[in-house]
Amino acid sequence: MNAEIISVGTELLLGETINTDAADVARVLSEYGINVFWQTVVGDNRPRLEHAVRVAKERSDIIITTGGLGPTCDDLTKEVVAAAFGKQLVLFPEEEARLRELYRQRNTYMTENHLQQVYLPEGCQVLVNDWGTAPGCAFEAEDTLVIMLPGPPLECGPMVEHRVRPLLAKRSDSLILSHSVRIFGIGEGTMEFRLRDLMNSMTNPTLAPYAKEGETLVRITAKAKTEAEAEAMIAPWIERVRQELGEFAYTVDAENIQSYATRRLIESGKTIAVAESCTGGLVGDLITNTPGASEVFLGGLIVYTDEMKKRLLGVDADVLEEYGAVSREVAIQMAEKAREKVGTDLALSLTGLAGPGDDGVHTVGTVFVALAAPEQTFVRRLYKDKWGRERIKHAAANHAFDMLRRYLDGLPVEYEENC
Ligand code: ATP
Ligand code: MG
Repeated sequence: MNAEIISVGTELLLGETINTDAADVARVLSEYGINVFWQTVVGDNRPRLEHAVRVAKERSDIIITTGGLGPTCDDLTKEVVAAAFGKQLVLFPEEEARLRELYRQRNTYMTENHLQQVYLPEGCQVLVNDWGTAPGCAFEAEDTLVIMLPGPPLECGPMVEHRVRPLLAKRSDSLILSHSVRIFGIGEGTMEFRLRDLMNSMTNPTLAPYAKEGETLVRITAKAKTEAEAEAMIAPWIERVRQELGEFAYTVDAENIQSYATRRLIESGKTIAVAESCTGGLVGDLITNTPGASEVFLGGLIVYTDEMKKRLLGVDADVLEEYGAVSREVAIQMAEKAREKVGTDLALSLTGLAGPGDDGVHTVGTVFVALAAPEQTFVRRLYKDKWGRERIKHAAANHAFDMLRRYLDGLPVEYEENC
């Protein structure tokens, strides 16, 4: 079985919107072992959309469209796709009732063109949209399975998970399941070097490295008849990869380093404060993304200038004078003073040079991150030369979280980072 995704929307062609819907659809198709040979993007234009559907019909067993299901006159998808399969659009009274109720609840006036959304191909299966207004739909005709999904990613994503997945599960006799071991502290290249022999020797499951912004992961993928069988095939390899990568592998699946470390902190019941210079409050911001952060995060100080480091935090003037604001010594004092002032078990501090200008001593991209704990203060020095301000800030913040998770997991906290 092969599938084709047709994403409809002029904004996608112009590069104004990134086609994340197609990625969401493709990912799930691949989990069921369904090959995606083609992804087409076409504007809100009738003849070109007709052409795309005609072509897809010839070469694909499954056609999934995204976008163009709404109430405006550029929303053409249903009309064109239905016509290509000789189907009429008819009003679905249940969906009309749902839509009217939705507008009533929202207390907004529903103009008649909104009804366009509940005209669907005759005889189709409605894919109820619990995340927005326009329903999706699916039908089979001329040996083709056709699925139409709404464009807004916050609707398309859940529709793929909750409406499309069951349709595919029924059709596929095997499924593909993946788990990702998340890694922090070594790059994709090093990771691949360590795992190369393992990767080359495997066919099912397979191992593949991925690099995302500041983090890497190893994805273990198995193809099997049932989910239980796939899980059983993957489990020993998760252990094996964790063994190979040791303390650099911190968790499995969806969590990033920030939420993992914050969750571990919440579990530990230890409180934390932050003192931030170059990250301007980013670490505090990221901590508060995790539910339950209020149990452990008491507060922090953003001390961007030397004056504020002295006045708000109490960093010694002569230490600042002797070593400069971007130094191991100042990072240590910032963390220790924050811990003292806020009255927490732990405190993180960050001070660095995000550029473009340097301080005459350190290169741009030098950051010191410190973690003050009751027994010791740990420091890590980073070099993120020429990364640009925003990436340096994020990388520094991620290292702060890595130090925290290492501390909480009882692993060595300090190392000189240079990659
Ligand atoms: P609506 O009911 O909101 O009109 P729709 O199904 O008609 O939904 P569109 O009008 O095509 O969808 O797009 C709605 C929004 O979703 C737009 O902001 C658009 O940029 C975004 N969008 C559309 N298609 C995609 C896509 N393939 N990937 C990411 N975003 C998309
Ligand atoms: Mg629309």
